[in-house]
Amino acid sequence: MSQPGTLERPLAVAVVGAGPSGFYAVEALLKSPGVHVRVDLFDRLPTPYGLVRGGVAPDHQKIKSVTAVYEKTALDPRVRFFGNVKLGQDLTVADLRAHYDKIIYAVGCESDRHMEIPGEGLAGSHSATEFVGWYNGHPDHRHRSFDLSCEAVAVVGVGNVAMDVTRVLACDPEALAKTDITGYALDALRQSKVKTIWLLGRRGPAEAAYSPAEIEEIGELTTADLVVDPAEAAVEPISSAELADPAVKKKVEYVQKHAALGPGSRERKVRLRFRASPAEIVGQDGRVAALRIEKNKLVSDGKDGVKSVGTGEFETLPVGMVLRSVGYRGIPVPGVPFDDKAGRIANAAGRVTDGPGGAVVTGEYVVGWSKRGPSGLIGTNRADSVATVSLMLEDWKAGKLVQTSPNADPAAIVKLLAAKSAAVVSFAQWKALDKLELAAGAARGKIREKFSRVEDMIAALDHGSGLPPKRENN
Ligand code: NAP
Repeated sequence: MSQPGTLERPLAVAVVGAGPSGFYAVEALLKSPGVHVRVDLFDRLPTPYGLVRGGVAPDHQKIKSVTAVYEKTALDPRVRFFGNVKLGQDLTVADLRAHYDKIIYAVGCESDRHMEIPGEGLAGSHSATEFVGWYNGHPDHRHRSFDLSCEAVAVVGVGNVAMDVTRVLACDPEALAKTDITGYALDALRQSKVKTIWLLGRRGPAEAAYSPAEIEEIGELTTADLVVDPAEAAVEPISSAELADPAVKKKVEYVQKHAALGPGSRERKVRLRFRASPAEIVGQDGRVAALRIEKNKLVSDGKDGVKSVGTGEFETLPVGMVLRSVGYRGIPVPGVPFDDKAGRIANAAGRVTDGPGGAVVTGEYVVGWSKRGPSGLIGTNRADSVATVSLMLEDWKAGKLVQTSPNADPAAIVKLLAAKSAAVVSFAQWKALDKLELAAGAARGKIREKFSRVEDMIAALDHGSGLPPKRENN
């Protein structure tokens, strides 16, 4: 057989995961000169766009407009979307290997890291991932409940996810009322009694992971004061070299300005702390009652940075809920080698390996957070996916494919999924759901009211008026 990649026999590529990195990989493939491709894009949810839909905060609608670019990619005639197809359940890696020349995993980081402290299992202790998924209507998290009847909440970590959840907790819910926040979350936020949000950074203001714009959004809230202790806002000598970075300097000056303003007069406060680590979640009757924190000092990490070390001095913050926002973590996909220590798919610069530091698995690649871990903004994934696709095409030129003669007939995978009774959702069907969500939103004076249960989406496709039939394919 001649090398696939011709008009008659395009290179058949499966991309697993329809979030930003998956879409950027598809876009890079479509734009690659000298090779004809056809791409099947799978997602475990009926809806595309990954964290843009399920992660980006409802008050950041401008960021979500990137979906217009993804939609253009999805509508390319060389691309088919297979929503509601879960790898390891509806399809196996062996199925993909039997039907495609190349496979790209873009499965992100579906789970989160733990703080590894006592009390993490108490009721009222959650991950920020769960809270974000809940207010954004992610089917994995819509069933959760968060007790907003308490007066104080602790958010552990000072990355941009911590900023998102703090802003959602601290803002005026009416400012979210016209967005795509789910109706149930909006109702709960309207009833919220939360007055104090402790925001805990284990290192100093120069090491805070948030972006300047994100901390400024907290400082500009009209419903809460950003309160910082001037002593904690001070940069320790060990961190002073970091101020040479203009973004760091900007962030530090911003919190120092707020520290100088004092506590303010608003009832609701965001109390930003530095050099404070969570030590124990204290429970009462099985529920979170307080968070014990340990004050830290900063020492060299032996490389170019600084790390925090406990001083043995503790403080107890009475809180009714703890949201840990200490980073996401990948979960293994059945049949795909996983690097458990790093929490991502085992890979060398995007080529899947048979274990950490192991041999390359021919024809299989990884992009986005599942490749490099949970870091970077949405746009970071574009260059990352382009880099992996270019490695993939290098390998293609060298004749390295998953196998020499897969069943690359485009109808074969459709038949296989039908035989497995998978309720596949096509892109046209997603657009039908999209239309229903927009209409439901318009009826409530909002941008969108999301479906948050997979069964509701499938039922709407089965019974909705004028919708494409359930198993139509693109
Ligand atoms: P992140 O940026 O890695 O921040 C994690 C935070 O958790 C850091 O402050 C880290 O402190 C802290 N941490 C880690 N382990 C800890 C522990 N055991 N105890 C206490 N603190 C701990 O992660 P993220 O906030 O989940 O964000 C993930 C990525 O998505 C980032 O690249 C972020 O910029 C991006 N994102 C962007 C936006 C936006 O642009 N609006 C929104 C959301 C997410 P150390 O620094 O000391 O490790």
